[in-house]
Amino acid sequence: MPLELFERMREHEHEQVVFCTDRSTGLRAVIAIHDTTLGPALGGSRMWSYKSEAEAVRDVLRLSRGMTFKAAVAGLNLGGGKAVLLGDPRKDKTEAMFRSFGRFVHSLGGRYITAEDVGTSVDDMEWVRMETPYVTGISRALGGSGDPSPMTAWGVFVGMKACLKEVFESEDLSGVRVAIQGLGHTGYWLASYLHDAGVRLLVSDLDEDRVRRVVEEFGAEAVAPDAICSVEAEIFAPAALGGVIDDESIGAMRFKIVAGSANNQLEDENRHGAMLREKGVLYAPDFVINSGGLINVANELEGYNRERAKRQVETVGGILEQIFAISRREDIPTHEAANRAAKQRIRDMARLHSFWLPRGEIKRKSARSARE
Ligand code: NAD
Repeated sequence: MPLELFERMREHEHEQVVFCTDRSTGLRAVIAIHDTTLGPALGGSRMWSYKSEAEAVRDVLRLSRGMTFKAAVAGLNLGGGKAVLLGDPRKDKTEAMFRSFGRFVHSLGGRYITAEDVGTSVDDMEWVRMETPYVTGISRALGGSGDPSPMTAWGVFVGMKACLKEVFESEDLSGVRVAIQGLGHTGYWLASYLHDAGVRLLVSDLDEDRVRRVVEEFGAEAVAPDAICSVEAEIFAPAALGGVIDDESIGAMRFKIVAGSANNQLEDENRHGAMLREKGVLYAPDFVINSGGLINVANELEGYNRERAKRQVETVGGILEQIFAISRREDIPTHEAANRAAKQRIRDMARLHSFWLPRGEIKRKSARSARE
């Protein structure tokens, strides 16, 4: 398929795409800046063995746009960006490659701020940091916020309570059954918080050791991976890969709520978002409920304070309540309500720039605008 890059950029209004190559280090990377109306574009660097360059470009364009929406709806003064590095994260990583990547990030003068993502780690970001200050997700030892997963899971936990309130008019999680798909970085922490709240856990993972650990530590019931979407439970928490909500899983599900950490949960956003609504299942839009990790790394930009970051992550519950209210009022699926809320905030903030100020722009103090 031809790339037709400008056409693709125009389609979703991307601002800038930067191709980075360095023969001596083997670096091949693409940085996409989608929209900087709200502030510098923040988004992780994904390292992946893409089948083709076109696939890598498609991924970075899609992911960077998602970051714009995620930051906007979370009340952050940040735009959306993302980077992809082409290569196998298990064997192609070197210090020189990541430092070279860091220099390309630096060349953008702060328009793009990077972080870890699938295939990259806190250690890789420390190499990047040797070349540029425009990086977050640095280790706690260096004053950074470290692994974002516990905060992402905390946001999902808080968001689940907002979902319960919407459906059952009670936030009480004790005795509620939650089916978790995926017990990796976020799924494990989510299981831990839910266990403490008295939830009955049903869990699955392709990795048996991860299942065993959660069964032993939290008394969870193990479920086969192909059965997790059809178990009887009030809540389904996708915490593995995207695209899990499709015709088949919607047909089989007996849940009242879908609320999990995974990105891009709806295989076809419009079709499956509408199908969930018709079936009477409340869907917590993924980019809203899983925004805790982004809120956490954004805090690094102002000097990291874990308690403050945690309080900000807890606003995810209130944001979801507003989105559910829009969905009810406008009679639209929740994912559409979330998209509208994100676009509305970008439009409102863009208007702020439309009138002249005597001494240039006011310097923003905070990477976040919403009240804690
Ligand atoms: P992870 O790789 O640590 O864990 C994913 C787990 O899912 C693995 O244990 C894997 O074995 C399991 N898995 C894969 N396919 C499965 C299947 N079919 N059935 C059951 N288990 C399966 O990833 P993570 O960091 O926990 O992220 C999970 C999801 O959340 C991803 O979609 C990610 O993009 C998203 N997310 C993560 C963060 C974060 O802070 N880590 C933030 C926002 C969004």
